[in-house]
Formats: sequence, structure tokens, C-alpha cells
Amino acid sequence: MKAAIYREYNQDPTQVIKIEDTDIPKLKANEVMIKVESASYNYNDLWAIWGDPVKVPLPHISGSDVSGIIEETGEDVLKLKKGDRVVSHSNMSCRVCEMCTSGHEYDCNDRLIWGFQTGPLWGGFCQYAHLPEVNVVKIPDAVSFEDAAAISMVGMTAWHMLVDRAKIRPGQVVLIMGGTSGVGMAGIQIAKLYGCDVIATAGNKEKMDKCLELGAEYVVNHREPDWYKKVREITKKQGVDVVFEHIGKSTFPQEVGLLKMGGTLVATGATTGYDSSLDLRYLFFKGTNLLGSTQGTKADLEQVIHWTSKGRIKPLISTVLPFSDMVKGHTMMANADQIGKILTTPQKL
Ligand SMILES: [Zn+2]
Repeated sequence: MKAAIYREYNQDPTQVIKIEDTDIPKLKANEVMIKVESASYNYNDLWAIWGDPVKVPLPHISGSDVSGIIEETGEDVLKLKKGDRVVSHSNMSCRVCEMCTSGHEYDCNDRLIWGFQTGPLWGGFCQYAHLPEVNVVKIPDAVSFEDAAAISMVGMTAWHMLVDRAKIRPGQVVLIMGGTSGVGMAGIQIAKLYGCDVIATAGNKEKMDKCLELGAEYVVNHREPDWYKKVREITKKQGVDVVFEHIGKSTFPQEVGLLKMGGTLVATGATTGYDSSLDLRYLFFKGTNLLGSTQGTKADLEQVIHWTSKGRIKPLISTVLPFSDMVKGHTMMANADQIGKILTTPQKL
């Protein structure tokens, strides 16, 4: 099979990623083999190639989001069969510890993100990917392979942040930072699905317009120094119930200041930097909830796929690259200049 392989770390993915011929791996008894029709890029693919902040196994195949058709099943596979249309659930956990068996698979000490921390040569940017049955979700005919690959990790992450962690309710005001990012575009649509009022932020006019198209009632430019004053004005100085955060250092202190009494900030990333400050008076005096969140559960992903099939969550897709050009997708991710997810098609060179 063809696979996108690299054997050393490099800041420039174009220097190290090569499309190579490699053997189709042998299935374990609990695994299924997926003929990969569509695969999407995530920021962790860049961390892997950079070897920073985590040294991933080498040689490496990246790619944590794939959709396709089951080609073969191991002898212990119970519910999936050859020909099923499926999408990957990249959160690999032990499934036997206390966290896993109490529904907190994302807090498992042995958790690995498939395609990022797994290997050597075990990820999704290839023609045939193997995964344990528990890490695969069936997709209905109404969901295309492209939509499934585009929404799986970001949709699951956003669902977990808003529904499981922040526990959003109808009528709440939710501030979605970075509304056209992968998690942001899912966050806007999930908050609307739950009957919330959405204020989104974005970094330029084109992205701001897209936020409104996705359903946000209001949008502000978070690159303007007084962006948070505009949010406060929109809320008539009341503040917001929930902040959906993944931007990090550059906006975090202002986001905390925008929360209502008893409000909740839920964070899943820190693109602009980790070492932020926090005025602790906001924390104790206002009864603020600061929640971390990473990935989600298989059940979260199943919800996202369900609402995608109903047309209530529409993934944003910017580019579909033939597999021979797949390395371009990493450069586009690094430049962050696209709106929506980048996909590649391993079966089409
Ligand atoms: Zn576990």
C-alpha cells in the first residue's frame, strides 16, 4: 500500500515526508482494517513531525482522522463487518482502568492519540489503516466520507467541551473563540443545537462572515486590542455564561474577565502560548469554573456523527488534496490561512 512516511523530525514537513510503498499490516484479533477513503489533518500532525513537544515513534505515519470502508475483520470482532462505512475514534485507552470503566476514557493514564503517539508506522495517512473495533464508529449513508473525516476529532472535542464539561443549557450565552478553526466551527453549531446564543471571534473579515454563516448571532475580531470590550457591549455588560477556549496566552486573561458570576471557561488548547496569567480574584470572588478538556468519548463522537447525518452539524472543508500532494496540507496547517479542514484521499494519488 501507499503511505506517507517520515523517518526523522523536521520543522519543514516537505523535507521529510515521502509517499512510500509499505506492507499492509497484519490484523490483530480485535482489529478491523479500513480502506481509507478520506483523511483529515490536525495540529498534532505538525507536533509529530516537529518532534516537539512530544517525540513520536519513528518511522512515523501521521493522521488521526480517517473514514472509509471495512475491508477485513479480526476473529474477535463482534459488531462490525466487511463493507461497513466507518470513521476512526482516535482516543485509544486501556478500557479496563477505573477511568475507562466509569466513562472517562479521556482521563485514562494509558491513553494514546492514534496517529500521533502510536507507531512505528501506525496512523491514518495511508491506504489501509487498522484499529481496534472499539476505536471505530459506523457512519450512516447520509454522511459522506469527507464530512466524517473532517468532523470526527474536532467535533468530538467540541461536543465534549460544551456538553459534557461545561454542560451548556438553552438560553445561555456562549463565547466561541476562534470560530472558524476546526473545533470552533463545531463549537458554534453545537451551541446552537443546544439553544444557546453564540458570540464568536475570528481574526479577519472573511472568517468573521463565516462565523455568522455557521449560526453565530454576533462576531468580533479577536485581533483588535479592545475585542473583549465589544463582547461586553454585546452582552449589555452582563458577561457570558461559557467561554470555549483554545487560543491561549493572547486572550485568556480577558476571557476570564468576561465570565458572569459562576460562569465556566472550558479550554482544550493554547495555540498562542501556554504561560498565561490569571487574576485570582476572578476565580474565587466570582465563583468561576475553569475546566480543562481533551478529546472525548466514543459516545460523544457518535452524537456528532448523528447530528451531522441530520444536517445540524456541517463540517467546514477548505481543501481536498490528492495523496501525492498530501504534504502540502501540513504546510497549510502551519500557515493557518485556510478556513475549514484540509483532507487528503489516500486511494487517489
Ligand atoms: Zn484506561
